[in-house]
Amino acid sequence: MLERMDVSDREIVDAVAAVGNEMLELLCQLVEVPTTIGNEEPGQQLMEEAYRDLLGLEPADIAMDAQLLRSHPRAAPFSWDVSQKRNVVCDWPPAGAGGRSLVLQGHIDVVGPASERLWRTQPFRAVREDDWLYGRGSGDMKAGLAAIAGAVLGLRTLGLAPLAPVQLQSVVEEECGGNGALQCVVSGLRPDAAVIPEPYPGYIPTSQVGVLWFHVDIAGTPAHVADAQDGFNAIEASFTVVNELHALEDELNESPPAPFDGVSHPISFNVGVVSGGDWASTVAAECTLSCRIAHYPGTPVVELQRRVEDAVARAAAANVYLAEHPPVVRYDGFACEGSTLAGDEPVVQALSAAWEAVTGDRVATGATTATTDVRTFIAAGIPAACIGPRAERIHGVDERVFLPSVMQTAQVLALLVRDWCGLA
Ligand SMILES: [Zn+2]
Repeated sequence: MLERMDVSDREIVDAVAAVGNEMLELLCQLVEVPTTIGNEEPGQQLMEEAYRDLLGLEPADIAMDAQLLRSHPRAAPFSWDVSQKRNVVCDWPPAGAGGRSLVLQGHIDVVGPASERLWRTQPFRAVREDDWLYGRGSGDMKAGLAAIAGAVLGLRTLGLAPLAPVQLQSVVEEECGGNGALQCVVSGLRPDAAVIPEPYPGYIPTSQVGVLWFHVDIAGTPAHVADAQDGFNAIEASFTVVNELHALEDELNESPPAPFDGVSHPISFNVGVVSGGDWASTVAAECTLSCRIAHYPGTPVVELQRRVEDAVARAAAANVYLAEHPPVVRYDGFACEGSTLAGDEPVVQALSAAWEAVTGDRVATGATTATTDVRTFIAAGIPAACIGPRAERIHGVDERVFLPSVMQTAQVLALLVRDWCGLA
C-alpha cells in the first residue's frame, strides 16, 4: 500500500493553474454544443473524450433505464424517450486504501437560449471578453464540468492518485427532473460524499426547495369570432387559472420555515410555456400552461400536487363552462421534495476549508430557491453539496461565467480530493 502523502496547498494550486489552458479549451468546446434536453449526446461525447484523452482515465456509460426510472419512487415522471440517453462516468482508481470515496458530478444539459434575439452574442458560441466567458451553459454548469476535469488533471500531473475510489460523472436531465443523477445514484459508485460544482461561489446551499412541474390542459369550444358567443376561449380562460395559482404562491410565501424565512419570496410560481389556439379569427379551442412551482423541505410532493389541483379546481368552479369542462392537470418533469443537509456534515466542512484556502473568503451556508441534483444523493443517504464558479444570468440572456472563479473552483476541488480522499 502506498503511503498517504502530504502535498502542500501551493503545489496543488500551482499544478491546477498549469492546466488552465486545457480546462478553458474544454469549457469552450462544451459551450459550443447546444446540449438542450434531448440533444445532450454531443456534449457527452466531448466528456467521454476528455475523460479518456485529457485525463487518461477509462470512461464508461450509465445508460438511462426508462423502466427502472418509471418505477423509482423518487424519479421525475417523463413522457419523452430516454432510450438513447446516457450519463458518462469515469473511475479514478485508488492508489491505496484508507481514504473516503467521492463522486464529482456535473450536468451536461442546458436550458434553451430563452430568446436568441435578445442575446448580445450567439448563445452557443463561447465568446471571451476579458475574464468572462459568454454562452448558454457557461456557468450552469459546463464550467463545473471543466473544473472537475482541471482538478483531476492537475493532481495527475503531479503523479498523484486518491486513496479511495473517485468517480467523475457527467449527467443528463438535471434541468428537467434530475433522472440522470438518479440513474447514477442507483447504478454508479456509492460514495462517502458527492460534490456538484453548480455556480454557487462561496456559498453552500444546505437547504433547497423541492420543485414541481405541472401542465394544465384547458379545453374550449372553437367558433368564428363573428359568433364568439357560441364558443369558449381556452386561452382567455387560462388567465383565471394563473391567478388562482399565484394565490397559492402567495400562501406558500406567507410564513416560510427557517432558513427560508431569511429569503425574500422563497417560493416562485412560473408559467414558462403557453401553447394554444391556431388562428387569430378563431376562438381558441385549446390552451396548455406549462408551469413550475416550489415547496419547502419536509413536505411530500403529493401534498403540493393536491394544492395545485385544488387551485385549478377553484378557478374552474368560478366559471360555468369550466365547471362543466374542468381543466386537466398533468405531471411531466420535476417532482421532487426539498432537501436539507446539516451544516456540520464533514463534506460541508471539508469543502468550506478548501474554498477558504484557495480564495481567502469565508463560506456561508443557507437556503437556495432552486433545486440541484445534490438532493438525489442526500435522499439516498449520501451527503452531497454544491459550491462553484461565479456565473451571471443563468437561464437568462448573455449568460456568462467569471473565468478566474472557474480556476479557483478547480483548485478547491483538487484540495478537496486531497483532504477527503487522501493522496498517494
Ligand atoms: Zn445547473
